[in-house]
Amino acid sequence: MNCQQILIHFGELSTKGGNRKLFINKLGSNIRHALKAFPAVVVTSDHDHIYVELNGEDAERIAAILVEIPGIQRLSFIRRVSKEISAIQAAALEMISEEKGKTFKVDAKRADKTYPLDSYGIARAVGGYILSKTDWKVDVHNPDVHVQVDVRREEAFVSCKTIVGAGGYPLGMNGKAMLLLSGGIDSPVAAYALLRRGIRIECVHFASPPYTSMAVLDKLEDIIGKLSVYQEDIKLNIVPFTKLQEAIYENVDEPYCITIMRRMMVRIAVALAEKEHCLALATGESVGQVASQTLDSMVAINDVTNFPILRPLATSDKLSIIATAKKIDTYEISIRPYQDCCTIFAPKAPKTKPKISECVHYESRFDWKGLVDECVEKVEQVLYVGGKKKQFEN
Ligand code: ATP
Ligand code: MG
Repeated sequence: MNCQQILIHFGELSTKGGNRKLFINKLGSNIRHALKAFPAVVVTSDHDHIYVELNGEDAERIAAILVEIPGIQRLSFIRRVSKEISAIQAAALEMISEEKGKTFKVDAKRADKTYPLDSYGIARAVGGYILSKTDWKVDVHNPDVHVQVDVRREEAFVSCKTIVGAGGYPLGMNGKAMLLLSGGIDSPVAAYALLRRGIRIECVHFASPPYTSMAVLDKLEDIIGKLSVYQEDIKLNIVPFTKLQEAIYENVDEPYCITIMRRMMVRIAVALAEKEHCLALATGESVGQVASQTLDSMVAINDVTNFPILRPLATSDKLSIIATAKKIDTYEISIRPYQDCCTIFAPKAPKTKPKISECVHYESRFDWKGLVDECVEKVEQVLYVGGKKKQFEN
């Protein structure tokens, strides 16, 4: 496509008043980072927009990267021309000829109030020119192509194509959450929901070898690879959970095992979250999806902490979760067979309405505190950058 610049519209950012500058700076630096493989591209901003100067790079290729960046509401492909109306008309004609469709409308605005035509006059001149040169028709309500003309002080912008971006907030704008990442379908989708809201993630996985195969780590690595499109550096905390899990199954009656296990996961995840400066935990739970995800269960699980637990999928149904998993390309990875610690120890009849008093009673039967501390101490941390293992810590 013959365009020189992509114009970025913020959407939700506009509602943010005083924080606006911070938002624009954050989004601008996220965009620069995402486009660092294209040194010719220049990113600038003003109060209303961010401008991505292509300097010869392919517009479609750059746009494919931009549509994944949270905080971008829409992208317009812009041709910059001189302010002469004939130049604007020619550019609009050439651009609309590259589009598919039969109907169009033209909207114009002018920052330059000394311009000989007002906005309406510009729109009429451009629309009339297209009508005279093509068989496109005008449809002001539901056009196939929306031609936009913006006459600025020095030059004019013409655009025929606007595409929808990821929306939400720029990454890093809203702190960091510790996400419980299992290897199933839901938690990567929860990750995507958080990232779109501008929340950075760090992940924690509870591994119970030899009951669960360490092959799950390959899955997690592949999932993290897919998520790194949205957040380049993702830290994974792998918790050695076997001893604590065995203690649970020795001491707790079967119907309560899952609830107690989840309470332990939350305690460990909170300790890690605090160490890593996360402001919340997050899970892929969805109310009612399975026995351990009833509201009653969530109350019993939440009881161990007053740290916030975000459940972005709380009210999503499975079909829409699967659709998102396919969109972000984690679905095929998630459905690879694997043994999760929950499935291995899954009781035949888990309690759907666990009572907090019963949980406390079961937990009084064994020294779980020492085991929880041991899990936190022995956690293995792996940093992934662009989906590639970067370094081991601990
Ligand atoms: P998912 O598809 O995300 O695994 P699920 O439908 O299988 O979810 P559960 O297995 O009940 O549901 O898990 C609910 C949530 O608990 C998960 O979304 C995840 O956030 C967390 N979770 C479960 N197992 C683990 C684990 N081994 N390590 C880390 N988090 C886990
Ligand atoms: Mg699971």
